[in-house]
Amino acid sequence: MRVDLISYTPEPEKICALAMRLCHFKGSLEELRNSLDPLEIERLLKKAKRLQHLSVFEHAYFSFYIEGISRVTTHQLVRHRIASYSQQSQRFVRVKEETVTPVSIEKKEEIKKIYQSAIENAFQSYEKLIEMGIPKEDARYLLPQAIETKIIVSMNARELMHFFSLRTCNNSQWEIREMAWKMLEKVKEVAPIIFSDAGPYCFRGPCPEGKTCVPERR
Ligand SMILES: Cc1cc2nc3c(=O)[nH]c(=O)nc-3n(C[C@H](O)[C@H](O)[C@H](O)COP(=O)(O)OP(=O)(O)OC[C@H]3O[C@@H](n4cnc5c(N)ncnc54)[C@H](O)[C@@H]3O)c2cc1C
Repeated sequence: MRVDLISYTPEPEKICALAMRLCHFKGSLEELRNSLDPLEIERLLKKAKRLQHLSVFEHAYFSFYIEGISRVTTHQLVRHRIASYSQQSQRFVRVKEETVTPVSIEKKEEIKKIYQSAIENAFQSYEKLIEMGIPKEDARYLLPQAIETKIIVSMNARELMHFFSLRTCNNSQWEIREMAWKMLEKVKEVAPIIFSDAGPYCFRGPCPEGKTCVPERR
């Protein structure tokens, strides 16, 4: 799995702090800008979180390039609606036999053989149909959900915080969880204050599931 942060709002924390301060500020834009030093930015961002004044975090955008994840995972990812997505098309791209294998399958030789043979069969039939003149958009109905895909996703910081709460949680499915943790790692490098307490709900309070985590499911 590859997760790259390919673009983001310049000075993401400054713009959010600026938005927060603006709400109670009488002066000009220049005065507003000058009123912000690093300590003040941190104070304002923490205050915004404490007061749940979360709309100020919508001013910072982050775009990721993600590859080597399965369609199982992108199907879950795109359920997050406050985001923009562009995904490699199976209508126009003749896909290769590149798939994700869950560890639970990978570690048992006998099971891995069953898995691989089903995938090989699906891809052979896919290729055969295309050779027989069936359009890619129809032949793809045979492809397994394990197939690797590429996607660009953009979310604002507010939606990312929500996304991380749900998808870094141990109750989330392992592949999207791995992806979410990688995304969090990347945004923390450029917006450490905004994402300082990002992660599963239990990082900030009681678990909404009201129970202990399920063991690692792979
Ligand atoms: C562990 C786990 C298991 C899941 N299992 C299933 C499952 O079995 N079946 C299934 O179908 N889905 C499942 N989901 C997906 C889940 O139901 C959500 O669709 C997904 O997590 C997207 O999150 P969201 O709806 O909170 O918000 P997003 O789409 O990320 O939107 C962010 C927030 O904006 C607000 N919002 C967005 N759109 C609307 C709207 N139309 N109306 C009102 N408010 C809105 C809400 O406050 C929402 O929380 C699962 C998710 C997780 C994390």
